[in-house]
Amino acid sequence: MSQTTRTLVFVKPDGVRRGLVGEIIQRFEKRGIRIVGLKMVHPTRELAEKHYAVHRDKPFFEGVVNFITSGPVVAMVLECPNAIEVTRQMMGATNPINAAPGTIRGDFGLDIEQNIIHGSSDPEAAEYELNLWFKPEELVGQ
Ligand code: ATP
Ligand code: MG
Repeated sequence: MSQTTRTLVFVKPDGVRRGLVGEIIQRFEKRGIRIVGLKMVHPTRELAEKHYAVHRDKPFFEGVVNFITSGPVVAMVLECPNAIEVTRQMMGATNPINAAPGTIRGDFGLDIEQNIIHGSSDPEAAEYELNLWFKPEELVGQ
């Protein structure tokens, strides 16, 4: 039996600007994934730097922080069996050029930086990001 888990997902500023929020949420809902938290946030530099802290030494760090703070994002906590793997599969490869058709990045993107959506990559990242983006009282359910 696979375990019900939670993950932190957000539609990045390009996805919001392009009007893809509804389409993306609909894909998760239709899959049967439960939304337990949802909000629109314009990330501060502090939030973005904390979120991408694991990438601090990467050449793309500055660029991705600038991009994520360029406009509002729609952040959500999603819950289902194997939530991290399921949502990452639905998002597709980091570089949309390599993302399979039928995935969010494979259907809507071509740019490795402006790649539409974020999803936690592993259980440690999910716990860190959930606490960073949402207060316990902003989540429904137990
Ligand atoms: P995310 O963490 O946003 O869900 P990911 O886990 O698929 O994406 P990471 O390796 O964690 O990929 O990279 C974080 C983000 O940094 C990517 O989603 C992308 O926006 C940006 N990024 C990654 N690699 C590059 C690169 N080579 N050039 C420019 N931007 C990049
Ligand atoms: Mg990542």
